Amino acid sequence: MIKLADVTDKIALYQDPLSGQKHLRTTCRHRAGSLLHAFSASEYVAHPTYLSMQIDHDCHIHLEPEFLQYLNHSCDPNIYVDVTRREFICLRDIEANEAITFFYPSTEWAMDQEFDCACRSENCLGAIKGAMHLEEHLLPRYKFTPHIIEKLQGPAPEQQPVHEPNAN
Ligand SMILES: [Zn+2]
Repeated sequence: MIKLADVTDKIALYQDPLSGQKHLRTTCRHRAGSLLHAFSASEYVAHPTYLSMQIDHDCHIHLEPEFLQYLNHSCDPNIYVDVTRREFICLRDIEANEAITFFYPSTEWAMDQEFDCACRSENCLGAIKGAMHLEEHLLPRYKFTPHIIEKLQGPAPEQQPVHEPNAN
């Protein structure tokens, strides 16, 4: 692995010389629950692309700062996405020099391009295609964004009243 640059005081950009693929690594220790980096949208796109991240129903963005596009997928991720606060948060303690990854189906309902995962984790799912294709027994393993949880739970029952009665 070749280190290309420190992109923040906590994160560095690396490149695999064989594949040319880039990824991000920690440069110091991060504690579970701490902020890795905040993000915003450099652009809103109508449909998912290989670069976009889904932050709500029908809402896909390109990430700002741009280096966040090199956050790769893993089936055993160490960060998750808080789409409400627009932050990447550490799922667990992360050591210095670990590759930083999140679980792409935690934000993506359907993906533009499915791909074969090479994360080499014990529970690697193989083909990654978006949350709509996940088997139910896998769901408790991951932390999903609210728009994905809503979709996984399905539509609310039709007969549900719009207003709750005031009396208990
Ligand atoms: Zn995997």
